[in-house]
Amino acid sequence: MNEISTILLEQINHNGPMPISDFMETCLMHPKYGYYSTRDPFGTKGDFVTSPEISQVFGELIGLCLAQNWLDQGEPPFSLVEAGPGRGTLMADILRATKSIPGFHESMTIHLIEKSQMLIRIQGEQLSKYNIKWHDTFDSLPQKAIFFIANEFFDALPIRQFRKVKLGWREILIGEKKNKLTYFLGNKIPLNAIAHRIENTQVGDIIEICKTAKPIIEELSKRIEIFGGCAIIIDYGNDNLVGNTFQAVKNHKKIDPLKHPGDCDLTAHVNFNDLSNYATNVVVTKTTTQGLLLKKLGISERFERLLRNLPEVQKLKLQSDEKRLIHPSEMGSLFKAIALVPTKIALPVGFHI
Ligand code: SAH
Repeated sequence: MNEISTILLEQINHNGPMPISDFMETCLMHPKYGYYSTRDPFGTKGDFVTSPEISQVFGELIGLCLAQNWLDQGEPPFSLVEAGPGRGTLMADILRATKSIPGFHESMTIHLIEKSQMLIRIQGEQLSKYNIKWHDTFDSLPQKAIFFIANEFFDALPIRQFRKVKLGWREILIGEKKNKLTYFLGNKIPLNAIAHRIENTQVGDIIEICKTAKPIIEELSKRIEIFGGCAIIIDYGNDNLVGNTFQAVKNHKKIDPLKHPGDCDLTAHVNFNDLSNYATNVVVTKTTTQGLLLKKLGISERFERLLRNLPEVQKLKLQSDEKRLIHPSEMGSLFKAIALVPTKIALPVGFHI
C-alpha cells in the first residue's frame, strides 16, 4: 500500500466515506505524495500526451490567436496567464510565435498558475529566458488586462458525482471495505446544489459538478469585464454532460480510478455549459471542437510550411502529429474550446457565438 492509500484510509476511518472531489484533490495535489507533486507525467514515456506535447504548432496557433485579439483590443498592457502549464511547453511555443508581433512582449508580464512544486521547477527550466511569476490561485494576478490560456487544466479540478435514485439524488462517495477503497452511495441530498443540472434525467443517471471551476470563471470574467482581455479554455468534454466521466490513466491506458491512488492521472470531462453559465458580463463563445478551431487558425498551412524540404520520414511524423490534433477519431472532436471576451470586442479568430 502506498502513502496516499494510507492517508485516504485514515481519513475515511476518521470521517467516513468522502466525496470524489476530496479523493481527487488528495491523489493529484497532496503536497508530498500527490500525482502532480511527485512526477512529470507527460509524453510517450509518461502516462499521457497533451496537444502542446504533440506539436509546437498547437501553441504557435493559440499564441497568434491571443495576439490578434490583443491587437483588436487596442494593444493594452496585459498579463499573459496560463493555468496548469504542465511542462511549460505551450507557454514556450506561445512566446516564440508572438516574439515578432511589435509591442506584444513589451506590453506583458507572464504569470503561471501552478500548485505542483515539481512542475514549477520544470516550467522554470523550460522558460528560463523569461521573467515569470508563479501563483497558487487566481486572485493574486495583477489588476490589468488578461490574456489567458488553459489546456487540460479544468479536467484536473475535483468533481463530485450524484446519482438519481427513485426518490431523489444521492452522492457517490468513496469509502473502504476490508481495507480497500470502494464506492458508496451517500444519503439523499438537498436538490438546490444541483438544481440546474437535473432536468431531463432518469433514475440511474449520474451528473458531475465541479465546484472549484465556478470561482475561477467568475474571477476571470470579472477581470475581462473590467480590464479587457481574452480567455481561451481547451479541454475534453462537452455541453450538458450526463454520465460518469471520472477516469484514471496510467501508461496511456485507462485503469480503475480506485486501484492506484496518487499513481495515475485522474480527470473528469469538462462541462462547457456550466463554465459558460458561471461567466457574467462577458461574451462566451459557442463551444467549438479543437479540430475546427485549429483548422480555422491555419493548422494546415502551418504544417505545409514545416513539411517543405523535410526528409520523408520526418514528413510522415509531422503529418501524423497534425492528424492527432485535428482528426475526429483522435483529439479533434473530443476536445472542445470556448473563449471569453469583453462585450463589443471582436471575437478571437476561430470562435463564434
Ligand atoms: N496544460 C498542460 C498540462 C495539463 S495537466 C498541457 O497541456 O500539457 C494539468 C496541469 O494542471 C498540471 O500542470 C497540474 O499540476 C495543474 N493543476 C492541476 N490542478 C491544479 C490546481 N488546482 N491548481 C493549479 N494547478 C493545477
